[in-house]
Amino acid sequence: MASDAGGIPEREGVGSGLREGLRAAIYSKTLDCVHCGLCLQSCPTYRVTGRETASPRGRIYLMRGFAEGRLQDPELLVEEAFACLGCRACETACPSGVRYGEMLERTRAVVRSEEKDASLSTKIERFALREIVPRPRRLGILVGLLRWVQALRLDRLSTLLPRGLRDRVALAPRVPPRRERRRMPLLTPAEGVRRGRVALFEGCVMPELFGRVNDAARLVLSRAGYEVIVPRNQGCCGALHAHSGEIGFARELALRNVRAFTGELGQLDAIIVTSAGCSASMREAESWIGESGGVLADGVRDVLDFLDDARPGLPLRPIPKRVCYDDACHLVHAQGVAAGPRRLLQAIPELVLVSHRNPEACCGAAGIYNLTRPEMSRAVLQPKIDALIEAGPDLVATANPGCAMQLSAGLAARHSEIGVVHPIELLEEATRPVTA
Ligand code: SF4
Ligand code: SF4
Repeated sequence: MASDAGGIPEREGVGSGLREGLRAAIYSKTLDCVHCGLCLQSCPTYRVTGRETASPRGRIYLMRGFAEGRLQDPELLVEEAFACLGCRACETACPSGVRYGEMLERTRAVVRSEEKDASLSTKIERFALREIVPRPRRLGILVGLLRWVQALRLDRLSTLLPRGLRDRVALAPRVPPRRERRRMPLLTPAEGVRRGRVALFEGCVMPELFGRVNDAARLVLSRAGYEVIVPRNQGCCGALHAHSGEIGFARELALRNVRAFTGELGQLDAIIVTSAGCSASMREAESWIGESGGVLADGVRDVLDFLDDARPGLPLRPIPKRVCYDDACHLVHAQGVAAGPRRLLQAIPELVLVSHRNPEACCGAAGIYNLTRPEMSRAVLQPKIDALIEAGPDLVATANPGCAMQLSAGLAARHSEIGVVHPIELLEEATRPVTA
């Protein structure tokens, strides 16, 4: 990681590895913040707590103060670095172009690398992120077990568990049937007039829990005239690892995808991603792994953004439903994609796009934040659920699997019948041939 300590004032004080790491990793970026506070009201943790230290400005102040040696005790900095959702709503609100997401990721990486005795929960998190999430076979076994538990309705026994554990179990999505968890074909030909060729990124959790979303993307792209390839040696994007401070492991995963996709790039219009969290991370791969990451990043497009640009002009069947589009943070704040998905949905005949209060607010899922910090996650989620129930759509459409699971759990807890889908599923339904 290049040194970023230009112009740092020299001070006496605790010369820990953490301080030196922060000086090298983020110091000059903290100086971009002019303390105007315009980001405060967009920050979910600030809105819940009202505490300055739980705001973007406060967190940047902690990072800078500790790097400069004005703050001696790192405890509050470490707590706030991990209490942040990483939703990046502050970046959208900031008029000074502060790159908060990058600072946060680097701060967490420095904290993790300097950690002497990780807590039990950090060790469990690290084990799950390294040994299960990126390993399709192990993840598949775990998801298969969960399906049996749900089929035998053993999950009802979770009412006997302590509250904290019960709430986490309630977040588990319904596991789809085996037919939706099959691998996709290596190649799907373009239908009609051929417009180009794209590669589809499958992700880690997506094939197991949201295979229907990947498959919907494959079908819509094919109907739109794109030949779709699915490179087999691809893998997890590393987003969850980077967000947890496991940047070294995230780099290994990103390099694997560089090898899987970049050989094909000359023949591709884009690498299509259906999960907003994954597309956001892959588009920032250069900051993790340098030039080769930049090549990968340049090719990556979120499926909704790509289709909005491509304007394939497919005939659309009516879907007579009221739909709320809820922005995934990593699509709207990390990639600036907000209007395109709405345009795509609005084009479907008889579909009524219903607005609700504050669709750009975080839902509190934030990767695995809802598992590691369930209380804050719930507090952030509740205003969103209130707004959705008030708007009363048939469906909520969101472009990130974590958000889909979080919203489903939040709506189920309120006994709401509002369904949750990915917008590409509605596009697939609308473009489905009449005979299918
Ligand atoms: S990323 Fe989200 S939670 Fe974190 S400081 Fe920014 S707005 Fe607040
Ligand atoms: S992060 Fe941006 S909006 Fe927030 S206080 Fe700093 S300069 Fe102002």
